[in-house]
Amino acid sequence: MSIAENLSEIKSALPPHVTLVAVSKTKPVTDLMEAYNAGQRIFGENKIQEMTDKWQQMPKDIQWHMIGHVQSNKVKYMIPYVRLIHGVDSLKLLQEINRLAGKWRKKVDCLLQIHIAEEETKFGLNEEELEEMLKQVQHDQEGFENIRIVGLMGMATFTDNQKQIKREFLHLKTIFDKHSHLNTDNCHLTTLSMGMSGDYQLAIECGSNMVRIGSSIFGSR
Ligand SMILES: *Cc1c(COP(=O)(O)O)cnc(C)c1O
Repeated sequence: MSIAENLSEIKSALPPHVTLVAVSKTKPVTDLMEAYNAGQRIFGENKIQEMTDKWQQMPKDIQWHMIGHVQSNKVKYMIPYVRLIHGVDSLKLLQEINRLAGKWRKKVDCLLQIHIAEEETKFGLNEEELEEMLKQVQHDQEGFENIRIVGLMGMATFTDNQKQIKREFLHLKTIFDKHSHLNTDNCHLTTLSMGMSGDYQLAIECGSNMVRIGSSIFGSR
């Protein structure tokens, strides 16, 4: 099937409250343009350099989401255009995003990445670290004037065990709900980014409202 056909099949099955991020990492601009021409406007990349190259070459009504691990020294390249940063997992990184966003007089939307998988290798905050970060941001509003924490992101363990994946997604949903009452200028959690090609249906059942789908749209990498 073509990229356009894959997209239309996935989109027709998504509930209306779920946002689709088309994960286009490693794929050439021609593939992204095929998705663009089929109506897709939100693209996710996991490397800042690659995302910036694609941003430069492609139509400017695209919303670019940074879904990968962010290195502080590269943040500056994406600040002018990035729409949402999914993988914020330290106060230091948040401070750097805030500082650079200030230079551009912008407010940059961020998701805090939560570690829900059992693998040690995946990035993310634990619950305690999350609480601490949310506290810091709320108590130092002026220090974080140029960012908005708009939700959480997480990745389940890479396994065939559906029960385990479901448990991990529900765990993240519980954490998300616990903080959904927050409503300050820079802290208002409304987006729950969870689910990829292999597990997005389950993620939606567990409360996801943003899915990041790559290989089911663009083919394997
Ligand atoms: C690559 C990637 C995806 C998409 O994965 P697929 O299995 O190809 O859908 C989603 N989220 C993150 C963080 C990724 O790095």
